[in-house]
Amino acid sequence: MCAEALDAVVRGLYGEFSAFRGTGKVADYIPALAEVDPGHFGVVVHTLPGHVTACGDADVLFSIQSISKLFTFTMAFAGRGESIWKRVGKEPSGTAFNSLYQLEAEAGIPRNPFINAGAMVISDMLLADYPDPMAELLAFLHRLTGDESIGYDQHVYQSELEYGMRNASLAYLMKSFGNVQNPVDEVLRFYFKQCSIRMSCRQLAQATQFLANQGMNPLTGRAILTPSQTKRTNALLLTTGLYNEAGDFAFRVGIPAKSGVGGGIAGIIPGQLSVVTWAPGLNTIGNSQLGIDFLEEFTTRTGLSIF
Ligand code: GLU
Repeated sequence: MCAEALDAVVRGLYGEFSAFRGTGKVADYIPALAEVDPGHFGVVVHTLPGHVTACGDADVLFSIQSISKLFTFTMAFAGRGESIWKRVGKEPSGTAFNSLYQLEAEAGIPRNPFINAGAMVISDMLLADYPDPMAELLAFLHRLTGDESIGYDQHVYQSELEYGMRNASLAYLMKSFGNVQNPVDEVLRFYFKQCSIRMSCRQLAQATQFLANQGMNPLTGRAILTPSQTKRTNALLLTTGLYNEAGDFAFRVGIPAKSGVGGGIAGIIPGQLSVVTWAPGLNTIGNSQLGIDFLEEFTTRTGLSIF
């Protein structure tokens, strides 16, 4: 599909779906997230040749929440390779993103790196690998986007810290099984900071280009992941990137993607493009309702998916 045709489809769809702004319910278990206006709606499609279609709130910064798990996972996978799988699995969880009971039954080994427990194990690895992993993560995002303004939101971070009882439970449970090596406090602080990073749809679409581009950052020409690691990361995103809705999302949309409770969804069509939506209203599982509906229609009308 040529850039002009893609542009027309995306803009047309954005117009149609704008009528449904505000669908779903903004996350409120982290009080600072409940302050976000549910009417926001942004979409960016960024093709590998570098054509960008941006609609609506494409440049408004929002809390990326669990989309950050994609970047911390990439850092750990790039740095440690296959050894990470001793401490975290690669299976769909079939349970909520912050569920405790499966972790108890499976001896503190989280099902995958994209649920909270798995991301905290990854945080624990990065705390061991870098003296200041948060600075390293931000520097990584700056290199991926060419934008040094990306940072995290103190207010959201404090709110997560204050209301993070369930995440603390997950971390302590894993510590009791020996799958957290650093002090739990440090792991939680790093984990909450990464979830509190603020980015726009445009920045996220740029930052995820390497996953469409066989692991290479198109801005610098540097390899972030090998082509094989990139294939594996995309496979994991397809099977686990939308919590316990990953199957339904694969069925309806058919692309690797990562969602966050801030209402963002970052999707990748390998070899073609990255696509990011932001609409803060969530469905009961914790994924952006309007984002999923838009992406389903996007892959249907363009015929672009991995299948
Ligand atoms: N900071 C959120 C939490 O840990 C992230 C959850 C999400 O986006 O899925 O609960």
